Amino acid sequence: IDAFRRPAETRIFVVANQKGGVGKTTTTVNIAAALALKGLRVLVVDLDPQGNASTALDVEHSEGTPGVYEAVVEGVPIEDLVRPAPALPGLTVLPASIDLAGAEIELVSLVARETRLDKAIQTHLHQRAAAGDRIDYVLIDCPPSLGLLTVNAMVAGREVLIPIQCEYYALEGLGQLLRNIELVRSHLNPDLDVSTILLTMYDARTNLSAGVAHEVREHFGSQVLTTAIPRSVRISEAPSYQQTVLTYDRSSSGALSYLEAAREITEAPRAQEAR
Ligand code: ADP
Ligand code: MG
Repeated sequence: IDAFRRPAETRIFVVANQKGGVGKTTTTVNIAAALALKGLRVLVVDLDPQGNASTALDVEHSEGTPGVYEAVVEGVPIEDLVRPAPALPGLTVLPASIDLAGAEIELVSLVARETRLDKAIQTHLHQRAAAGDRIDYVLIDCPPSLGLLTVNAMVAGREVLIPIQCEYYALEGLGQLLRNIELVRSHLNPDLDVSTILLTMYDARTNLSAGVAHEVREHFGSQVLTTAIPRSVRISEAPSYQQTVLTYDRSSSGALSYLEAAREITEAPRAQEAR
């Protein structure tokens, strides 16, 4: 198989949209899987107490399992918390358990409450690089809110990937998301950039999907990936088998579209820039 090109530097994506059910988790795990299957080293940070990304990647995350909570709240090194995704060599996961639900409130009274995930990830990346195992991509799966966990992700990340569901009200709430990104940019992380928009659950048979896609492309232009992810039963089935669609049914339209979207991401100008 033809491997994807390694980026000049580690790229850190925040997969965010405060709406639930738009495809954040599905996008995180399937883009991550595509990158790993194409030979890249990938870390997925599950930042949602639901732990759906951990489930899809077949990584233990039952209550009490150490994971991102310990990294962010207790300062445990990520090095000691990551687990390999069994089906995907090259992909490691920092899991989330339901214990993370308390972090949103506990963080409020902690010092450097907005920068804790950033510190933890940077330390981990340096350790991996020093061990001769440079991580190429980090994808952070955000919870459906704009609280302190998502702020931590936006401080740790360099690029925001916004999945937009091709449905009614798709653009509702996007203004608020963009304003929050702007706030983080002006106060906490000037490097943050909305580099990538991905249309999800696209249904080619409906005018509605086409209309939403048109509107999003009109508004965001080249940030929108050419590939849209189709609505696909295979994509929604895969997590119940602790799989991504790329391992569950690799020739399905869902798998091929995520592979294509991942290829677009690796070919973006950002990937070649040395920053
Ligand atoms: P979020 O993380 O934004 O809450 P999810 O990724 O969990 O959203 O997706 C919400 C639901 O939609 C899940 O049940 C998921 O399996 C399903 N889903 C996501 N993308 C697709 C798709 N392209 N086709 C069909 N179902 C999808
Ligand atoms: Mg999710």
